[in-house]
Amino acid sequence: MIALLAVTTLALQQSVADTSPFRALALPTPTRVRSASGAPGPLYWQQEASYRIQATLDTATSLLTGTETIHYVNHSPDSLTFVWVQIEQNIFAKNSITYQLNQPPLHFAGGAVFDFTGKGFIGGITIDRFGAGGKALTRTEDGTMMRVDLAAPLAPGAAIDFDVAWHFTVPPYGGGRMGRVGNRLYEIGQWYPRMAVYDDVHGWNPLPYIGAGEFYLEYGDFDVTLTLPAGYLVAATGTVLNPEEVWSPEIRQRLGQVKGAADRVQIVTKAEATANAGKRVAGTKAWHLTATNVRDFAWAASPDFRWDASSWNGIQINTFYRPSAAPWEEANKMARFTIQHFSETWGMYPWPHATTVEGLIEGMEYPMLTFVPAIDKREDQFWVLMHEFGHEWFPMTVGSDERRYPWMDEGFNTFIDYGASEGYFKGTAYGDTVRRELLTDYTISAVPGQEQPLITKPVEQRDLAWGAYQKPALMLTELRDAVLGRETFERAMREYVRRWRFKHPQPADFFRTISDMSGRDLDWFWREWVYSTARLDQAVDSVRAVGKDSTYVYLSNRAQMVMPVTLELRYADGSTEVKPFPIEMWNLGDRFVARVATPKRVVAVTLDPRSVYPDVNRGNNVWKTTP
Ligand SMILES: [Zn+2]
Repeated sequence: MIALLAVTTLALQQSVADTSPFRALALPTPTRVRSASGAPGPLYWQQEASYRIQATLDTATSLLTGTETIHYVNHSPDSLTFVWVQIEQNIFAKNSITYQLNQPPLHFAGGAVFDFTGKGFIGGITIDRFGAGGKALTRTEDGTMMRVDLAAPLAPGAAIDFDVAWHFTVPPYGGGRMGRVGNRLYEIGQWYPRMAVYDDVHGWNPLPYIGAGEFYLEYGDFDVTLTLPAGYLVAATGTVLNPEEVWSPEIRQRLGQVKGAADRVQIVTKAEATANAGKRVAGTKAWHLTATNVRDFAWAASPDFRWDASSWNGIQINTFYRPSAAPWEEANKMARFTIQHFSETWGMYPWPHATTVEGLIEGMEYPMLTFVPAIDKREDQFWVLMHEFGHEWFPMTVGSDERRYPWMDEGFNTFIDYGASEGYFKGTAYGDTVRRELLTDYTISAVPGQEQPLITKPVEQRDLAWGAYQKPALMLTELRDAVLGRETFERAMREYVRRWRFKHPQPADFFRTISDMSGRDLDWFWREWVYSTARLDQAVDSVRAVGKDSTYVYLSNRAQMVMPVTLELRYADGSTEVKPFPIEMWNLGDRFVARVATPKRVVAVTLDPRSVYPDVNRGNNVWKTTP
């Protein structure tokens, strides 16, 4: 009987433990590659892919033709018999997944629409040659991915140089990522064949490029030569190595004034840009650029660019825009503020310049270079310009995997964006309330039965604006403001950026780093916010005076999510008091009695008085004495 009772008790405890919000999160076992602290381990490795590219743009036909050498170093402990290469222009090929499915445009909250097709343009890349050591290699194209079989296994520590030739026609509209306006403005990204990531977690990562989930890329160095008509100006990832050949003496003289300039120096004025638009310059120019430790390379070219430049902390801030673009005179100031704000808050911007190009792209990021449209409303203009630069931190510096985890890329970026927007518009109604959007979006987008957990792959998300952008930003806002406090949170987040700079973090590395740096077990928090669609409903059940100097406040947690409680007490004498209760209040179950030692009579109690939580039923957050 006794023994039986003991077993029953144990079984009961077991079943309670299984549903406890505080049960351990099942994360991958730490290894020598990825440590229990969340830092890269002593045996951390990642592959290296460096590129030497020579490309020529024929603006009469918009045909881009290139040759490239890919220097690929196998730092993995595995012998590789084949490699995967991304050929993303094939998203515009007739047989791509995108075209076969005739994927409709993706609607974002706020009316922004992303159409990942070429809007009827049929194109794709032609691989003219893919070889190594003078011999062609067998390759198998599978939409936007291509498997290349190696002539001999690539041993651990060995390197190989691939020799590649290719061409494609630049689409007028390139799925919101790249494209052109006639032959007067080219914005080129997702263009050259580039290596897929091989990592210690998934091996090869050949997830197709369908549209959502932009990229997961290896780091390396680039040496790029772009040949274009002589009248075109180029903005690109990387540093121009031959300024005398590509820039006029006037431009070079003005660039000389940029160092230390807080305000924009007009490198090409409106009058000059307008005059250039009418000129036809004969011949071609070759632009030679290099970039170190980047995961991608993009560029833009136009004969009509206006160009403003300033500098912050040795970083040159460039804005290129068409003479018609408004209100782009302020864009350089916005860009400079953004780079400074993110650098000071999350870690220093690592490259020599930060450049944005105004054009047809709705907003796209590449290392050192972003594509941003002109938007009438100043706040929205700042948001998109600043958001794309936020990607220089996530994922250009912290190289996470957006094909699987957009919340670590778009989401972390959106979170830091709210801080930048609050800073730029500080003291205005917009700046002081912009973050409230997150709670408004919660009520619109977190629909029970429809909402999907953050961990869902981007191509499987029905509401990408919520799951990839807004909800992760709300999650980190709650973590900062309600769980860790600003100082601890920011210290932990900065350490995550520092540890995984130019590396490939996985979700567990992030979770472990935040726990490591805060000293807190946050399994409950990640389970609720990342792996489930748990909802929060904190409630005051009743309030009772006990004896002469105590009041008991009976609280309950009525939904699946647990969060700490902030209680506001109002007393009969008109005074109020705010009491925070840590998360451990829910350790023993979903009811908690808050004992308030005070001789004063409590007349009202409010949970979450500043309304910072996405509490799904605020009606039960308040208790009042009946007058
Ligand atoms: Zn983004």
